[in-house]
Amino acid sequence: MDMVHDYDPTPLSCDKDALKESIRDGLIHIVGKDPLNATRRDWLQAVSYAARERIIERRMYTKRLFNQEQVKRVYYLSMEYLIGRMLVNSLMNLGFYENCKDALKEMGVDLHEIVGLESDAALGNGGLGRLAACILDSLATQCLPGYGYGIRYEFGMFHQHLEDGEQVEHPDNWLRYGNPWEFPRPEKIYPVHFYGYVVEHRERGVTRHHWEDGEEVIAMAYDHPTPGFGNKNVNNLRLWAAKATRDFDLDYFNEGDYIRAVQEKIESETISMVLYPNDATAVGRELRLKQEYFFVSASIQDILARHLELGYSLGELPNKVAIQLNDTHPAIAIAELMRLLVDQHHLPWQKAWNITCGVFSYTNHTLMPEALETWPVHLMERVLPRHMQIIYEINFHFLNEVRHNFPGDNAIVQRLSIIDESNGRQVRMAHLAVVGSHMVNGVAALHTQLLKKNLFRDFHRLWPERFVSITNGITPRLWLNQANPGLRDLINEHIGEDWLMDLQQLNKLEPLIDNPGFRERFQQVKRRNKERLADMIKEEMGLTVSPDAMFDVQIKRIHEYKRQLLNVLHIISYYNRIRDGRAGEQAPRVSIFAGKAAPSYVRAKQIIHLINDVADVVNHDPMVAGKQQVAFIPNYDVSSASVIIPAADLSEQISTAGTEASGTGNMKLALNGAMTIGTLDGANIEIRQAVGEENIFIFGLNADEVDHLRAEGYRPRDYYDSNEELRQALDMIRDGFFSPSEPGRYRDLVQNLLEVDTFMVLADYESYIREQERVDELYRDQDAWTRRAMLNTARMGYFSIDRTVAEYAEKVWGIVPEGWN
Ligand SMILES: *Cc1c(COP(=O)(O)O)cnc(C)c1O
Repeated sequence: MDMVHDYDPTPLSCDKDALKESIRDGLIHIVGKDPLNATRRDWLQAVSYAARERIIERRMYTKRLFNQEQVKRVYYLSMEYLIGRMLVNSLMNLGFYENCKDALKEMGVDLHEIVGLESDAALGNGGLGRLAACILDSLATQCLPGYGYGIRYEFGMFHQHLEDGEQVEHPDNWLRYGNPWEFPRPEKIYPVHFYGYVVEHRERGVTRHHWEDGEEVIAMAYDHPTPGFGNKNVNNLRLWAAKATRDFDLDYFNEGDYIRAVQEKIESETISMVLYPNDATAVGRELRLKQEYFFVSASIQDILARHLELGYSLGELPNKVAIQLNDTHPAIAIAELMRLLVDQHHLPWQKAWNITCGVFSYTNHTLMPEALETWPVHLMERVLPRHMQIIYEINFHFLNEVRHNFPGDNAIVQRLSIIDESNGRQVRMAHLAVVGSHMVNGVAALHTQLLKKNLFRDFHRLWPERFVSITNGITPRLWLNQANPGLRDLINEHIGEDWLMDLQQLNKLEPLIDNPGFRERFQQVKRRNKERLADMIKEEMGLTVSPDAMFDVQIKRIHEYKRQLLNVLHIISYYNRIRDGRAGEQAPRVSIFAGKAAPSYVRAKQIIHLINDVADVVNHDPMVAGKQQVAFIPNYDVSSASVIIPAADLSEQISTAGTEASGTGNMKLALNGAMTIGTLDGANIEIRQAVGEENIFIFGLNADEVDHLRAEGYRPRDYYDSNEELRQALDMIRDGFFSPSEPGRYRDLVQNLLEVDTFMVLADYESYIREQERVDELYRDQDAWTRRAMLNTARMGYFSIDRTVAEYAEKVWGIVPEGWN
């Protein structure tokens, strides 16, 4: 008997009447409410449970299938998953969104009115976490056996409020109303060990290591099934929560110290309490190291347990298991797998090492020095004493190989060592990740090229075949199908729905640019999306913006390298031109910003304040009324991105060349028919290649020119001295024009630009302003603009996450699809 095909993965019907019954049943029996006085949130819960019942059936089927077919699995280890809301995604992926909407309607409930009540699962900071979420969607959609592992943070990314133009953080209590998308697995628990010391002893001629004493925390699994689009496969995201070893420590109990026992419990459970809100900067805190090891140890123990339960030997690990490290945050996994293989399973070192390198691969996300994780040896020694020993031993063998390859070159040994001896002995996590992986990838062509040239130059000399480039992508299911129903319907009408699983199909839209009727429809869709965003801005900020204006959008984390300041300088210059009567016939613009600053990143918070100060002046100046507005939309997250992106005319991707690894916001915006103004950085370069040079606005120094300018001595003040418009804008900021109540507010910021300007804002200013003039000129020819915007949508197929994931599957993981389509 065929165990899998004997089982019907969808016994619960998904037709309207069956859904109606499920929803009513869930409302009464799970939520416990009378349909006569249920709130909208009660209905939301009930619908979510109806979807969940159908997801979990398919999950069981998928699991049985994978086990039976003895597939190789990939495990994606990531500290972050920036998921967003689940309901619409689930309904659409399962294929019964319309049925569900109709079912609710017959019960007097509007689906549109309840989806917004769901909290946005923001277990990530930005691009890195959103990439992880897109990858999970694609694995399930392509029927690839892929599992995510991460942390079930009690509090995700903070909520951003603005008070007098300044960012204020509020905790994100996203689990307040419960979470229908998770399945707690109180039986899936693993101990995770911290502190203590290592004891050596001889056993039948071999030295064995015991990690003793210290503290133990329990990791408990919460499963989040992730349905694929257009198929019946459902994969799993397993998130770990920290629990005290026993509910209460018995020793304290016996001593009669009840309160102390409770305190210990609370302390061990803080490990999974909160997401660190830092994007692209390493935080060297002990709790962060504990978070990293906590989820890594539980995941590796779980992976090994599953492997052995399925009857495979440890030697078969590289044939059945691939583990992807999303940045270095989970890189301690390499030492953890070695520890389990050597200390617990008693494998010889070399055999364990071959297995480990065969299993792991590592994705690098940034070249910026402040983002590179290093841990002080003394801290690692105290928190993870056995891992520190293992890292030393890995390093010992590795450096022998280096010496063998570069005899007499002592400098290269120091540069490559996993231990940085030059500033107080640090463990370089990126080096550990490269040494313990069989593949290392950058996330865009330029980024990978720079990795090989700079950060991993010596590694690349040693192991050139280990480095590959896999350009990031985005899921069209969320970023077009769900976020932009108007454009989706228009596309479906003309080329069908195949693009949802094969985004290259969008190139069938190209011939339609010569069809005036289609162009008009495309414009109407954009117009309606702009009205929708204008409504949101009105509702959230009380600001009325005109959808007739160009929507000029910069939405991303606030970071100096992303250069929101360059955008602000353009806004001020445009403002001055209007006031001085020099602006001519320029099209009205609304400059729209959104993004969070890390709470400890003072300069980034100052940039938010400045944007809001400038907005305050511009929006209240009658001289520019109807011509210019500025809006900072608070609390950027996946949900607000889904409203802003379809409404954008212009996409600002203006980082200093060589600093943005890939960017994915650039892809979402271009796919939705925004024109890009950008530098030759990250994936912008590949976007230019895909959409054509005439359909993108490129300006500024390229990465080589940035290097050269820096090498020959960059002098930002020269640009200030020689460009009057720039000088005027900077003087206004410095002298308090935008902050009359505190004229000195931005003196430091401007001084820093004039004297340091690490990210070369001033060097790119003139070329940016000139390119913005070209943007304006094209925008005033709406027909020409629309043609180019359409070509952007039609030519973005390459940036589907499905292409990205297929490349990982083939080049890195060695896994193949399994399942029903
Ligand atoms: C896509 C996305 C990002 C990444 O944007 P970049 O412009 O690539 O930095 C960050 N935050 C959210 C909510 C996103 O959806």
